[in-house]
Amino acid sequence: MYRQNKYGRRPKTGYTYGMKTKLDFDVLIVGGGLVGLTAALACAQAGFKIGVIDIAKPSDHLADNHDGRASAIATASFRMMRALGVADALEENGDTHAGPINKILVSDGQTGQPPSPLNLFFDSAQIAETNDGEPLGYMVENRRMRHALHTQTKAQKNITWIAPARVKSFLASKAKTTISFADGKILSASLLIAADGRNSFIRKLAGIGVTTWPCQQKAIVTTVEHELPHGGIAHELFLPAGPFAILPLTGNRASIVWTETPRAADAAMALDDEQFAAELSRRYGGFLGKVWPIAPRWCYPFSFQHAKTYIGERLIIIGDAAHAIHPIAGQGFNMGLRDAAALADILVRARSEGRDLGADINLALFEHWRKFDNTALTHACDVFNRLFSNNIGPLKHTRRIGLSVVDKLPPLRKFFMKEASGQIGDLPPLLRGESYGNAA
Ligand SMILES: Cc1cc2nc3c(=O)[nH]c(=O)nc-3n(C[C@H](O)[C@H](O)[C@H](O)COP(=O)(O)OP(=O)(O)OC[C@H]3O[C@@H](n4cnc5c(N)ncnc54)[C@H](O)[C@@H]3O)c2cc1C
Repeated sequence: MYRQNKYGRRPKTGYTYGMKTKLDFDVLIVGGGLVGLTAALACAQAGFKIGVIDIAKPSDHLADNHDGRASAIATASFRMMRALGVADALEENGDTHAGPINKILVSDGQTGQPPSPLNLFFDSAQIAETNDGEPLGYMVENRRMRHALHTQTKAQKNITWIAPARVKSFLASKAKTTISFADGKILSASLLIAADGRNSFIRKLAGIGVTTWPCQQKAIVTTVEHELPHGGIAHELFLPAGPFAILPLTGNRASIVWTETPRAADAAMALDDEQFAAELSRRYGGFLGKVWPIAPRWCYPFSFQHAKTYIGERLIIIGDAAHAIHPIAGQGFNMGLRDAAALADILVRARSEGRDLGADINLALFEHWRKFDNTALTHACDVFNRLFSNNIGPLKHTRRIGLSVVDKLPPLRKFFMKEASGQIGDLPPLLRGESYGNAA
């Protein structure tokens, strides 16, 4: 029995294309984090039968003490969130919970001193023609994003949550992949997706190695409130130990990502609340009036990590499981969203051409599409971080001039703005804001 949707004919559920094997799922996704859940929604709304496996209880992910970060979601990524209905699910009592990033000010400085006047200023108004008048992106607290993704995935009939559950092994054969669990359960699917984060168990099981390099930095993350409105301006102030980022949330609130050497970060984490608030104010320098923390402090070590390949037999690796980067440009989650959008597009095409979802050609397409983009961005972030996180005199001078040169050259400035808003490259339908119409 076949049903037709806008993107092609599909078997009702549970069959490997062109074969008779009975399957439990079209796609099994290991990892119900931000990227895994977005991939699940994207594929489910395109009509595939999806299972999401997570080692933790879903309620643990929704606890207030799970994640204190907020993410900069690029314009194109936010379009995808609209297309998937996640942006609507973020709304609560008339509050969108998505703070527009209208402008970005990048400057270089010394703690306790005003930033260098040689800076770089991005204004969304300068790319209004390609951005449909939208901001450069939106700041969304991860806890809010998780709630919205859980709401949407729970409401999606063709997504089954399998959590908490521990995968023991998987075995790919000619027709399917079979996943065995620690409790003895066995499930099968055409394709396995590893979205189980930086320490991906599935990636390790598949014997896929990573290239990793440290950056001797940690970030202290918290949320603050200020006396004066931030006007939707994101500030990235480069101090010798690393960037100090003030990222505009809704209201007079901001998410702070304060990067330090590991020792200095541990010391800042050990300060009492009053001392910590005083240190934060010193870095702000008073331009938003009085500033005070309104949330607990979190500390994250940074390093870069890139999987040697994104694919195995009937296996694709996405999100931080494939590429974990420094958040200097707020791109890690955005890269994972682009993986999810590309994955859904490849599977929709495979179905319309009658191909097995786990066919090698689909896997090769994914790797070809996503690896170049992710590798380029990973290295760009690394170079940017090395160039700016130091106090070397001549380098300091050169980077300040570099910022001001980009600022004075409109075409270059526009290129960087389009890159930041995620609108450069070969964009799959979801990133152009096109929905699959929820064919389930
Ligand atoms: C301080 C900081 C600020 C950041 N800011 C930004 C930003 O502004 N913009 C941006 O785009 N990115 C940002 N990032 C990066 C972003 O947070 C990550 O890229 C993103 O959270 C990765 O999501 P993920 O779903 O791939 O992995 P994770 O969030 O790690 O999720 C992995 C999931 O897999 C599950 N899991 C783990 N092991 C198993 C297993 N064995 N079996 C089953 N399930 C398992 C976990 O329970 C979890 O649910 C930032 C990162 C940091 C550290």
